[in-house]
Amino acid sequence: MKWTEEALKELENIPEFVRDMAVKAIESAAHASGKEEISAADVITSRQKYISFVEESAAEEEKIRIAVVRCETVSEVCPGVACFKAFNNRKQLFRQYGKEAEIIGFFTCGGCPGRRVSRLVKSLKKYGLNVVHLSSCMLLEDSYGKCPHHEDIKKAIEAAGIRVVEGTHH
Ligand code: SF4
Repeated sequence: MKWTEEALKELENIPEFVRDMAVKAIESAAHASGKEEISAADVITSRQKYISFVEESAAEEEKIRIAVVRCETVSEVCPGVACFKAFNNRKQLFRQYGKEAEIIGFFTCGGCPGRRVSRLVKSLKKYGLNVVHLSSCMLLEDSYGKCPHHEDIKKAIEAAGIRVVEGTHH
């Protein structure tokens, strides 16, 4: 089947991993409606109708899902504004992420020595957790005193197969 130049250009906008599938869907839709040439509009319509769900689920799988663990004691006085501000603006320890990244968990350690961290990390893994940030309040000496258990907490999270980043907004 013939393709116009505009249609071929439009085809290049479709991610490579679904392009073959897209070509089949576009040609079959054009054939079914008696067309002899594929236009850019045909590409756009078929992409929307037959391919977008595959693109969306791939993007969903690639999404970075983050949780922040913070100090139970500090949570009495800190609502976590600086952590969220840093994430929302992709600053400090969150600057590595694109706009698709999302925070799916924000929880306290449960008190010394971080008694509920492993349990909650395990629970968040079911939701696609990729990385846990130890909040800056656990690591800085000046504001609240550094967490004496942070190394063990880090190891426990890594043992669950999850990457750890030390810090949020410092
Ligand atoms: S384990 Fe660390 S982060 Fe948790 S309450 Fe104790 S000092 Fe705070």
